[in-house]
Amino acid sequence: MSRFSSSFFKAVKAHNRFLLLLFGVCLLAISLAFFALSIGRPYMGITLSANEQGWKVNELDIVGVASQAGIRVGDKPVEINGQPAQTFLAKYETAGIVWGPLIKELAVTNDQGQIKSVNIKDSLPSQQSLIELATTFIVCLFCWVTGFYVFLKKPKNKAATLFYLCGLFVPIVLGGNIADMRAIPIAPYIEAAATLFGPWLLAHFFLVLPEERTRLIDNKLVYLIYLPAIITLVLFLTIGYKDNQPIMWFRSLRLFEYGAGFLAAVIVAIINYYRSSSIKTRQQMKIVLFGCLIALIPILLFNLLPQAVWRQTIIPPGFSVLFIVFIPVSMGYSVVTQKLMDIDLIIRRSVIYGSITVVMAIILSASIVLAANLQESLSVPEDILVALLLGGIATALFGPAKKGIETIIDKLFYKDRYDYRKITQSLSISLNSINDFSNVSRLIVGTVVNTLNLGGGCLFTNRESGLYEVMAAQGIFADESKQKQLSSLIMKLDNLTVFPNSASKVAPDVSFLIPIVAGEKEIAILCLSQKLSRQGFSSDDVYLLQGVASVAAIALHRTMLIRDVSMRDTFVSIASHELRTPLTSIVGYADLIIHRDPPDDIRKQWLKRILDNGQRLTAMINDLLNVTRIQSGKLNIKLKAVNLSDIVSEILAMMGGGTDNHEFVADVSPSLPAMLIDRDKFGQVLGNLLSNAIKYSPNGGKITIGARYDDLNHRAVISVSDEGIGISPEDQSSLFTTFHRIQRKETMGIRGSGLGLYIAKEWTEAMGGEIWLQSELNKGSTFFVGIPVQNS
Ligand code: ADP
Repeated sequence: MSRFSSSFFKAVKAHNRFLLLLFGVCLLAISLAFFALSIGRPYMGITLSANEQGWKVNELDIVGVASQAGIRVGDKPVEINGQPAQTFLAKYETAGIVWGPLIKELAVTNDQGQIKSVNIKDSLPSQQSLIELATTFIVCLFCWVTGFYVFLKKPKNKAATLFYLCGLFVPIVLGGNIADMRAIPIAPYIEAAATLFGPWLLAHFFLVLPEERTRLIDNKLVYLIYLPAIITLVLFLTIGYKDNQPIMWFRSLRLFEYGAGFLAAVIVAIINYYRSSSIKTRQQMKIVLFGCLIALIPILLFNLLPQAVWRQTIIPPGFSVLFIVFIPVSMGYSVVTQKLMDIDLIIRRSVIYGSITVVMAIILSASIVLAANLQESLSVPEDILVALLLGGIATALFGPAKKGIETIIDKLFYKDRYDYRKITQSLSISLNSINDFSNVSRLIVGTVVNTLNLGGGCLFTNRESGLYEVMAAQGIFADESKQKQLSSLIMKLDNLTVFPNSASKVAPDVSFLIPIVAGEKEIAILCLSQKLSRQGFSSDDVYLLQGVASVAAIALHRTMLIRDVSMRDTFVSIASHELRTPLTSIVGYADLIIHRDPPDDIRKQWLKRILDNGQRLTAMINDLLNVTRIQSGKLNIKLKAVNLSDIVSEILAMMGGGTDNHEFVADVSPSLPAMLIDRDKFGQVLGNLLSNAIKYSPNGGKITIGARYDDLNHRAVISVSDEGIGISPEDQSSLFTTFHRIQRKETMGIRGSGLGLYIAKEWTEAMGGEIWLQSELNKGSTFFVGIPVQNS
């Protein structure tokens, strides 16, 4: 049932995404239709309004045909749509205004009594109106491309979906406005709906954008922000439109609603900026906010506000609307440079450089054409001058101008023009002030990855035992499976000591494996991926890496020593504390026996306690010795071919088939191949897991030892399961470290050193194996030991 419901929800979700895509395509089609229908259609570009002196031309768009025909603001209408103006205007007396799209034919007189007339049918669209159409279309193109790109790239991200919808609503508003002006039916309604919802969509986008604000993403209450838009839309459809034109007071109300939406979006964006804890979010917000402000302030100041208050715009709406392009542009910029919505956009530098060359070539060709036109009127010396001038322009365009633009693009988008000496020097200064080994590792990886703009980086330290441990990872190498691949790759290579090497030959996503050497010893390895831009490494890059490697070696070596000393200190203090407890009991009972001379049965009891504590002490000293051996790299593993099932039955026999309340069960697959293991150490690992299973299931139960062959990973897996107290997910990660004991009500009174699992892990890994567990609190635990066949 649950599987059914989860696949059902998955299907619904996939379905939703498909519907969203379909919705987007419909919006795109509508906007395109608006543009297509508007292309050949001239528009009047005029508004008539009435005052005490009667009707007159109130607003005039210079792009409209009325303006082209010489009609000016203040002219008085004489004839409209083939009727005398009085007759036509009679029904608009109360409204006091007549909206442009209603007028198809118009004749007016001016102050001097001249009559001017215009008829939409006989006019051609003005050149300016075509330019306006084209520029608006380009703005829309930006919105569509960024909207669809973001949606297809991050279909499951809510912020990306809202961004996509915003990107599709803007063209509806812009195209709808153009179509509305050209009296295309339905356009005013669609435009109004998009205008009402658009700003709230933007506000919603900002509400869910910051990655750290996960609370709001699934909160249904957020949808309440659409309430004003819904109410205004319903009012608009019922009372906002009369006699085929918007009612003036309602239009002002709509403008206020519109402004409020944008204000809300900007306020949320500002709050995001101040509240965000991550530098990345702040940076993203700054860019997007900046873009939104540049886009919206002109519309607010020059159109919406003056229109709402004085019914007149200061600059033509068609012009200020173009500022909207700053919204998709700033978001696009934020995507490219700051990974907005975690979108990684890599534009190949060669494509950008190629485009710059093309633009330069166009400019040059244009100047040649211009010069050719001039030529006819020029005499010979002037000819030479023009030729020289052209030569100068060509050199400037393809020389310094192109270089300059490329440098700016590199600085803005690729960020890999740097001074390697400065970076190495400042890294060295920063590293000197840090004493923590892992912080040093993180700083080294971060500096290299960020400076070279790499896909990822990872620092492995070489432990005494010959194993490599990840100390810091970033980008693509933050992934654990990638790290495993890398470490097995490093183990396989033995002649790493040369840099630069071309690691990409052995692993396609690694470009360098840089050994960090201190005192002829390789203490760490820095793995680096390719650059995000897919560019090759320059000689400066190699100098930087060499510099970083030597600075890193000093810092890592220094902090490693500090870490070792402090680890030894803790080790000694914990160890002596742990040893003292059994020793105190031994001394205590021995003292009692001597001074009290107790009866035989009591004496026996006390001697038994002395023996128990003595054994505990021996076990603990053995553990401590093992830990010291492990940490100094003297593991002394002797591999021999052994049949695993033999070991399992041997241990079970030794454990005596069970305890008073534990039942042992063996589930061993008969066809296990012989493995190369250290019999003694492997026996101790299993013995430790078994004694833990007994210790941590105080209420008894079944303890199962399993052994099977794992075809997929070519290894034998031995498991020990119990039905005991279990381990919570939070505790599981630190279980295999030294002296780690879980403090719970249930573990109180259970004795242990907290070293068993650490030793088990180290020994298993030294045999080429792996140890892991599955556990559920209060249900039981299963520990697995996997030994690969390859090690044979
Ligand atoms: P200890 O000597 O304390 O048993 P280990 O290193 O063997 O040390 O185990 C570390 C801790 O892991 C234990 O203190 C215990 O809390 C927990 N643990 C180990 N095995 C089990 C198990 N089978 N069930 C529940 N908890 C376990």
